[in-house]
Amino acid sequence: MNIFHESYALWAEVIVPIALPKPLTYAVPERYVTNLKPGCRVVVSVGKQKIYTAIVYRILKNPPDGFDVKSILERIDEYPVVTERQIEFWKWIAEYYMCTIGEVMSVALPSALRLSGETHFFSAHPVPEVVLSDRENAIMLMFQSKPYLTIDDVAKLLGIKTVQPVLNGLIQKKCIIAEQEMKKGFIPKTESYISLTSDSDNEDVLKQVFDDLVKAPAQLETLMRFIHLSGRYTGKPRNVKKTELLACEKVSYQTIRELIKKNVFEEKLIEVGRFHMSGKDESAPYALTDEQLQAYSNIQQAFLQKKTVLLYGVTSSGKTEVYVSLIRDCIKEGKQVLYLLPEIALTSQLIQRLEKFFPDQIGVYHSRFNDHERVEIWNTVLCNESRFKIILGARSALFLPYQNLGLIIVDEEHDASYKQQDPAPRYNARDASIVLSKMFDARVLLGSATPSIESFFNSQTGKYVRVELNKRFGSIELPQITVVDLKKEHQHKRMQSFFSTTLISEIQQALERREQVILFQNRRGYSLVVQCSDCGWIPSCKNCDISLIYHKSSSQLRCHYCGYAEPMPDACISCGSVVVDQKGFGTEKIEDDLQQIFPTARIARLDLDTTRKKNAYQQLLQHFSDGTVDILVGTQMVTKGLDFDRVSLVGILHADNLLHFPDFRAHERAFQLMEQVSGRAGRRDKQGRVLIQTYHPTHQVISQVLRHDYLSLYAQELNERQQFHYPPFYKLIEIVLKARDYNEVKDAAKQFAFNLQQQSLMIYGPEVPPVGRIRNQFLFRLLIKMETGISYQLVKEMISNAIIATRKNEAARRVSFHIDVDPC
Ligand code: ADP
Ligand code: ZN
Ligand code: ZN
Repeated sequence: MNIFHESYALWAEVIVPIALPKPLTYAVPERYVTNLKPGCRVVVSVGKQKIYTAIVYRILKNPPDGFDVKSILERIDEYPVVTERQIEFWKWIAEYYMCTIGEVMSVALPSALRLSGETHFFSAHPVPEVVLSDRENAIMLMFQSKPYLTIDDVAKLLGIKTVQPVLNGLIQKKCIIAEQEMKKGFIPKTESYISLTSDSDNEDVLKQVFDDLVKAPAQLETLMRFIHLSGRYTGKPRNVKKTELLACEKVSYQTIRELIKKNVFEEKLIEVGRFHMSGKDESAPYALTDEQLQAYSNIQQAFLQKKTVLLYGVTSSGKTEVYVSLIRDCIKEGKQVLYLLPEIALTSQLIQRLEKFFPDQIGVYHSRFNDHERVEIWNTVLCNESRFKIILGARSALFLPYQNLGLIIVDEEHDASYKQQDPAPRYNARDASIVLSKMFDARVLLGSATPSIESFFNSQTGKYVRVELNKRFGSIELPQITVVDLKKEHQHKRMQSFFSTTLISEIQQALERREQVILFQNRRGYSLVVQCSDCGWIPSCKNCDISLIYHKSSSQLRCHYCGYAEPMPDACISCGSVVVDQKGFGTEKIEDDLQQIFPTARIARLDLDTTRKKNAYQQLLQHFSDGTVDILVGTQMVTKGLDFDRVSLVGILHADNLLHFPDFRAHERAFQLMEQVSGRAGRRDKQGRVLIQTYHPTHQVISQVLRHDYLSLYAQELNERQQFHYPPFYKLIEIVLKARDYNEVKDAAKQFAFNLQQQSLMIYGPEVPPVGRIRNQFLFRLLIKMETGISYQLVKEMISNAIIATRKNEAARRVSFHIDVDPC
């Protein structure tokens, strides 16, 4: 509804952070016509009263045909906060991963930059002398009792729902101003700095000041401390923080205040990043070994040909050292480096390593930072002369507003954490980084000791260049791996809880030598299910079709899918028996049992539960690396790139649930996990030991791990993938349908599959996934396989059409479709 149609000269398409099929079009108010640019944030209302922060996508010279448009309520930024490249990147993600650009925006933009808070309307000062309608007058009168009005206030006052036009009218007449809460969403952190006033910043004047201060020794001392800190006479001038000055002896608030009064000092508030400046000098890089040097130069060669490189290097071969050399080259060219890690928890160790070589040039970005921190990094990266030459982050760091990216490093490229599962966009940061690099003509380096089958395949076919590092640094030997047959151990009654006699004695020996131990238990198997030993009853979640997991520390039964929790019952709900057993392999239980076997050992647990708090992970690792923890029990988290000196033994408690997971990547993942966790054993001067407990000691993956034989795994996997139509030979799209009503989702899934079949696609399903109900929604799953080489664009259109056709049915509209391209 637009009452000022005639007066508009421009229109803008904007992206709203919700799942809408297309950008929305709004009229540009006259006051913004000259300077509204793509990438600026604006405030718009969607539907009746919903207010959103939107990003200008395109400016249009003509209004859209066929419908009236509303006007933009407010412009937030004068300058774009999102670059054109970013919008292009968002668009690619939305198209490739089959979601809306609004969903990409929600993930890409820190939430402080996209608050959908309410607009506050203020009265203008003075209110111009114009003719107002009754409604307008009524609104203006309200300002006598309220400092500002919200849309709600106005709607109540006028007793009508659509108040936007009236408010728009008042804005046009310059009687009111719309202020966005959104503007206030981000408060930059400031810090007080002390400097000389422009009058005193002069040798002659300073000399005079010194003379005058002889009678005020404390002030004199303060001034001298300041001069010293500011580096005035040492050739390295810098700003002095008030807190820094206050930390000096004899300096006080009082003396600083006196000097300000005397017009010697002035105090300024300067916006600061929330990152410490270490002020350290740069260390020289390590001299690369011959092998590393060769790898480095091979990578440079490949980069000249604009090729993506896969650095395939065994654990501890010094991949990071090679990265450092490449980063240095890139910075020298005046470009930025993006260093991606699969897990934010890994950043702290890496920052410490990189800070030595690149002091004060590293920005860290990940989702566990609070919003203010994220916006600060965003803004710093946005400005052209960003002081961050290196951005270190988890997958969301792809979305920063880079200006001149030169190199993207994807470390541990095989890691599944690069893939976002929920919500959409379900993107893979490794794959998306290659697309992003093209937009900057930047290079990409993928690094891993256990590359994904896809990446290794690409390096075989020549799509990537493969560079290898086969020697571990310092020629440390790969760990010696022993397999323990759990079946035999049980037969001979050599098991104590989860631990074989061999494992217990190895742990014992390591502890005696004051060495450390890591015990790994797969997350997927760490469920501690409770079962009644009389009737077999297992408590399950009321929202999901899955058993509840026992958590001892809180004495609760919890659902790992929806978070539902209930107290552990005293007796079986079904038969009343009081004997309720615990089954399975919880890390918590492992920790407990271990403590009973080794009462004096210091044991810590590293899993999702113990690391929920922001710094918990870092603290745990710090304790471990300080040596205040002897045994670390953990899930997947312990496998990743940790570098500890005193770990001599790694135990894999139960390899079988890795091997027998119903997923086409199970063997690849099992190998990667076991190989990575083994890599934690014995770094520096000593060969480490690894013990794998399994019921299937002769399983081919176990023997591949024993021989550290990635190539054999690769050959075998490739064969199977080809035979059974999986990546890299086929591309997969998984579609999950969800609804509260079982029959509705089942019918929709059938209809959808039928519609797809009309399009002659290779479809598997629909079927109920292993967990068929989550958060009270029933699930059906379909898998589409596409031969490489066919037009994905076409297939995606077919899928979209099939969804539209399916939704023609009334009941199917209550079914939601979740599309996952390249599921992981
Ligand atoms: P990767 O990333 O391949 O697992 P790292 O880069 O972590 O290997 O190297 C393993 C260890 O060897 C690290 O402690 C690293 O500092 C050391 N190292 C590797 N290369 C060199 C070198 N050229 N000079 C000195 N130390 C090195
Ligand atoms: Zn029972
Ligand atoms: Zn649940």
